[in-house]
Amino acid sequence: MAAHDPVEQKYVYDFAEGNKDLKDLLGGKGANLAEMTNLGLPVPPGFTITTEACKAYLTTGREPDGLAGQIEAHLESLEREMGRRLGDPDDPLLVSVRSGAKFSMPGMMETVLNVGLNDRSVIGLSAQAGQNDRFAWDSYRRLIQMFGKTVCEVPGEEFEHALDEIKRAKGTHDDLDLDADDLRGLVDAYKKIFAKHTGREFPQEPREQLDLAIRAVFDSWNAERAILYRRQERIPADLGTAVNVVAMVFGNLGPDSGTGVAFTRDPGSGAQGIYGDYLANAQGEDVVAGIRNTVPLQELEQLDKTSYDQLLDIMARLEEHYKDLCDIEFTIERGKLWMLQTRVGKRTAAAAFVIAGQLVDEGLIDLDEALHRVNGAQLAQLMFPRFQLDHEFEAVAKGIGASPGAASGKVVFTSARAVELAAEGESVILVRRETNPDDLNGMIAAKGILTSRGGKTSHAAVVARGMGKTCVSGADELDVNVPAKRFTVGDHVVNEGDVVSIDGTTGKVYLGEVPVMPSEVVQYFEGELDPENTDDALVRSVHRIMTHADAARRLRVRTNADTGADAARARRFGAEGIGLCRTEHMFLGDRRELVERLILASGEREREDALAALLPLQRADFIEIFREMDGLPVTVRLIDPPLHEFLPPLEQLAVNVAVAQERGEDVAKEEALLAAVRRMHEENPMLGLRGVRLGLVIPGLFAMQVRAIAEAAVAVVRDGGKACPEIMVPLVGAVQELETVRAEAERIIAEVVGDSGVEVLIGTMIEVPRAALTAGQIAEAAEFFSFGTNDLTQMGWGFSRDDVEGAFFWRYLELGIFGISPFESIDTDGVGRLVRIAAEEGRAARPGLKLGVCGEHGGDPDSVHFFHEVGLDYVSCSPFRVPVARLEAGRASITTTGSDSR
Ligand code: PEP
Ligand code: MG
Repeated sequence: MAAHDPVEQKYVYDFAEGNKDLKDLLGGKGANLAEMTNLGLPVPPGFTITTEACKAYLTTGREPDGLAGQIEAHLESLEREMGRRLGDPDDPLLVSVRSGAKFSMPGMMETVLNVGLNDRSVIGLSAQAGQNDRFAWDSYRRLIQMFGKTVCEVPGEEFEHALDEIKRAKGTHDDLDLDADDLRGLVDAYKKIFAKHTGREFPQEPREQLDLAIRAVFDSWNAERAILYRRQERIPADLGTAVNVVAMVFGNLGPDSGTGVAFTRDPGSGAQGIYGDYLANAQGEDVVAGIRNTVPLQELEQLDKTSYDQLLDIMARLEEHYKDLCDIEFTIERGKLWMLQTRVGKRTAAAAFVIAGQLVDEGLIDLDEALHRVNGAQLAQLMFPRFQLDHEFEAVAKGIGASPGAASGKVVFTSARAVELAAEGESVILVRRETNPDDLNGMIAAKGILTSRGGKTSHAAVVARGMGKTCVSGADELDVNVPAKRFTVGDHVVNEGDVVSIDGTTGKVYLGEVPVMPSEVVQYFEGELDPENTDDALVRSVHRIMTHADAARRLRVRTNADTGADAARARRFGAEGIGLCRTEHMFLGDRRELVERLILASGEREREDALAALLPLQRADFIEIFREMDGLPVTVRLIDPPLHEFLPPLEQLAVNVAVAQERGEDVAKEEALLAAVRRMHEENPMLGLRGVRLGLVIPGLFAMQVRAIAEAAVAVVRDGGKACPEIMVPLVGAVQELETVRAEAERIIAEVVGDSGVEVLIGTMIEVPRAALTAGQIAEAAEFFSFGTNDLTQMGWGFSRDDVEGAFFWRYLELGIFGISPFESIDTDGVGRLVRIAAEEGRAARPGLKLGVCGEHGGDPDSVHFFHEVGLDYVSCSPFRVPVARLEAGRASITTTGSDSR
C-alpha cells in the first residue's frame, strides 16, 4: 500500500486489516468481509471506506482531506493483487461499490456493480470472458442503468422501457434471448437516456465512475426510505454507512456460474439444516429482484459438487466461528466459489429461542450467552395466540396494538350484550369509542376489545393488558355509533353480530373471521405442557432459558393483580408476590350502590353504615387473594380514583332527572345524586380529590380498607395459611399526608392483629414528582416505596395519560423528541431521574427500604434493565408480562461479550 501522511486519519481499510468487531467503523458487511478474509475463506479482494469518512462527508458536503489519496493507494494495491487495472482496455478490473452500515438496512441504500466499464474496456472484458460479447455488453448496460439510476437520479422506468422496446422488437419476453448486438444497441439507447437526463455523456473515466458511486452510497444514508427505516427500527441517525469496493466476480458467465443465498439453519423455525436458493448463470441482483426462479440450494450438488461441498464446509466453519446462525451470499464464477457476504442472520422469535438452545447443546455457547441472544419482546410475541394469515385477509383499519394477541368474534357495543352473548357461548369483540370502569364485565366476557380512541395507557389498553386480552385502541378510522349498534369504516358498515378479527400486536382490524392458533409457550407456563417430556423444541428451549434467567436475576418479579384468578395465573407464570392490588375494582358492580350510599351519606351514621356494609365484602376479596398467594407478599393499595368515577356521568344523570321531573315522577333520590355529582365535578380529576387525599377527606374510608386487609390476613393465618400484607398509600406528595394515614392505620392494625403473628408493612407509592424529590423525608414514614411510573410520567411530563398518545404523540415520534412513548418505556433522563433520586435518597434515610415499581413500565424490557441498574428490589407487572420481566431481569444481570445481533 502506498504511504500516506502518518497523522492523517485512516479512512480506508483493506479487507485484511479489519475484523468482525469493527462494525462501527467498517459497517456490518465490511467487518464481516474482513473477518472471512482473515479466516482464509475465498473472498474477492477489496477495501472498505469507513463510516467516519461518510460522516465527515455528510457534515461538510465534501469528501474529507486525504480520502482520495487513500482510495488511490488501496486501489493500486487491489490492482496489483488482481493483476488487472481499473479501466484497462485489454484486461479491465471491475469493482462493485456496496453500502454497509453497522446495522443491516436491507435494500435501503445503494449498490453499483461493474464499475470500470467503458466503451473500450467492454471489448477487453469480452476477451477476458473468452470472447463472450454478450456477457460484456450485458454487464455494460447494467452499469449504465444502475449508475444512471442511483448516482445520477435518472428515472429507472426509462431504462426499463428501452429494454422492453428491444425485447418487443425481437419478439421475446426473456432477457436471455437478447444477443450481443441487441445489447450493444441497448447500451446506445441507455447512453442517450443518460445524456438526456444529466446533460452530459456517460462518464468514460473509471476513477470518476468510482468516486461518483462512492459519493452516491454516502448520500443514500439520508435517502427518505433509509430515514424511515431507521426510525422504525430505532437505528441511530448519525452512524453513517461504510462503502465496500470489491473486485467483481461474475455469476453470469454461463451454466458453470451462478449465485445464491443461504442460511446455516432455518431462520423461521430454527431447525438445523441448509436453507438457501441458487440461481445458475445469474448475478446477485437477479435473485433479489426475483427475475428468474431460483432452485433449492441442495440442487447445486448435482450441478457442481465441488463448489457445493466447499460451500457446506464454509457454512459449518462460519457457524463454528460466529457461534450463531449465519446468512451468506455467494457467487460461483466458472466453477470457483466466492463468498460475497456473511452476517449473523435475522430470525423469528421462535427460531431465536430454538437456535439459542441448540447452540448450547452443541457446546458453542453457554447459557449466559443463550440468555443474551433472546429477549422479552420475542418472548411476548410467542405468548399470544396468533392469526393464521395464510390466506389473503385485508385489514380495514389500523389502530394501536394496545394488548397483543389475536381475536375474532361477533361485534357488540355494550358490556351487557357482551356478557349475554358470551354466556351463550359466543366469542365477542367489544367495540367502544373508549372504555370506562363500567365496561369491566363486558371486557372480561369479550375475546377482544376494539376502541376508536385512546392510546396504550387508555383504560381499555391497561385493563386489557392486565387481563392478557387482545386489544386494539385508537382505531380512529372507525366511526362508532353505540346507540345505533354499528360502526362504519371506509365503505363498510359493521352491525352488532357481524364478525371482525383484531390483531393486538399490529393493531390491524379485519372483517370476518381469521383463524387463530393458541400459543404453546403459554400452555407451557400454564403447566399444560411438560418441558421435559415434549418434542416441541421451542418449549424445551424456553424452559431452559427461563430457568437460567431465574437463577441469574437479582430483581424479584411480582404482579399487578386484583382478583384471585389473576393472582393464581400470575403465580403459575412465576410471580413472586403482588406488587399492586388495585382496590377500586372491588367497588364496582353490585357494590356501586354501597359507594353511592357512602357518597350521599348525610351524616356520620349513614356513612358508617355504608362502610360497615363494604367491610366484609372487601375482607372476602383479600382473603381470596392472600390464599392464592400463600405467604408471598401482597401489596394492597388503598383506593385511588376520584369517587365520582363510581357515580353515573353528569350529563346522563341530568337528562334522566329532567325527563323524570317532566313526567312528574318522584326523583328525590336522583336529585340528591345529581347534586352530589355536581358538587364533586372536577376540571382535572386526575389532579383532584383522589389517592391519599380521599383518605384524609372522607372519614373512615381508608380505615375500613385497612381493617379489611388486617382482618383478612388474620383470618387466613388462623386458618393455618400464610399472609404477608403490605398496605400502600397512593398519590402521596408530602410526608405529612403519609404520617396521618399511617397513625390511623397502625392503630387499627394493632387492634386487629393482636397475637396472631400477622405483620403488616405500610408504605407508599412514589408517583407525584414532589414525593420523588422529598423521598428522604417520606422514607421516614414508609417501609417501602413502589414507583407508580404511570402517574409519575403523567405528572413529570404534564401529559394526560388518557389523551396524549392518540392526540399528538405521532408528531413527537416523527420529530424524534422521543423514540418511543414514555408511557411505554421509561424516560430514563427525566422520569427515570426522579426514580433514581427517590431510590437513593429514600435508602439513605432508611437503609433496607424496600423498592419496587408497579407502573406499566414494570413489564417493559428496556425499563426492566433500567430498574435493575437503579437497584430496585422488584418490578411488578400484569400477569402476562411476568415471564417477560423474569427473562429481562435475568438478561440485565448477566454480562456477556456477545455482540448485538440486530
Ligand atoms: C401508576 O401511577 O403508575 C400506578 C401504578 O397507578 P395507577 O396506574 O393505578 O394510577
Ligand atoms: Mg397511579
